[in-house]
Amino acid sequence: MSQMRKDIISGEWVIFASNRRKKPYAFKHNSKIRENPDTVCPFCMGHEGCTTPERFRLEKDGNWEIRVFKNMYPAVDDLCFEVNMDNFYDSMEGIGFHEVLVDTPVHNEELHEFSWDHIERVIKVLKSRFTLFEEMDEIKYVQIFKNNGPMAGASISHSHWQVIGVPIVPCEQERALLSFENYRNKNGTCLMCDMAEHEIKFGERLVFENAGFAAFIPYAAKFSFEIWVVPKKHISSIAGMGEEEIKYLAEAIKTIISAVKDIKEDLCYNICFQDIPKGHKDEDFHWYMRILPRIGAPAGFEYGTGSYINPILPETAAQTVREIIKNKHNENKQH
Ligand SMILES: [Zn+2]
Ligand SMILES: [Zn+2]
Repeated sequence: MSQMRKDIISGEWVIFASNRRKKPYAFKHNSKIRENPDTVCPFCMGHEGCTTPERFRLEKDGNWEIRVFKNMYPAVDDLCFEVNMDNFYDSMEGIGFHEVLVDTPVHNEELHEFSWDHIERVIKVLKSRFTLFEEMDEIKYVQIFKNNGPMAGASISHSHWQVIGVPIVPCEQERALLSFENYRNKNGTCLMCDMAEHEIKFGERLVFENAGFAAFIPYAAKFSFEIWVVPKKHISSIAGMGEEEIKYLAEAIKTIISAVKDIKEDLCYNICFQDIPKGHKDEDFHWYMRILPRIGAPAGFEYGTGSYINPILPETAAQTVREIIKNKHNENKQH
């Protein structure tokens, strides 16, 4: 079902998951977010039988609030592999785990519309899935992510997260670890601790701050309005987050995603948790969350070079997001 192949030139791993071709698609094929009216949503309350068997549920008043189950079309799997026929290249069996976490029983409710308390519960369940995956021998890296809307790769509109545990350390994480290591060797401190401090002090790229987190548009943002949410305390993975951090992260997510959704009508976005790969020391990496609004798509230059063309300077984008947050805050005060 699944096989991993390493690109011999770039060193990037590619997952071939032939089973994903069968995946149903709930959106109409156009740029607007419009669902096919005849699609049955497998993530809605009452349709629990449409998913694979449940692995975890969080209940309130006899009904589920959060459900976790194996992805019906896993990119990697616990028992699948295809035989590699070509020894010229590096390959691996696509062993791993791929789960879906449905974070609300309500079909059209979105992450930024949840209460702070509920976002906290979602983060806690994600943390527990991360910890569980990380303990498995074959897993080297756990990626938590959210695809919101068709332009961000979601095939089902009902709000959900995905957790994938893979048997390799992806290139992006390898490169990040190296940058952290080089910075520490040179300065003796953590790159992200220093970056967060610098962004708070500089202020022009900062979009939000509370006692636990700083959120800013990165200096060299690849995507327009890309936002990084960084804990002020040095934490290398979601597993290191205590009650306090989770509370502050929930506030940051609600405030920032509400603003992001106001940048443009029907805006789709991805959230990626950047966690430490397994087998590294706590000081080797600093956890952060990337919010990637999808305005325009990578095109020929980006695919050709791996470099991105971004039409909006981070300082200008940050000013826009700060204004949206300020206006929303004032609106809420008036109501
Ligand atoms: Zn639904
Ligand atoms: Zn740090």
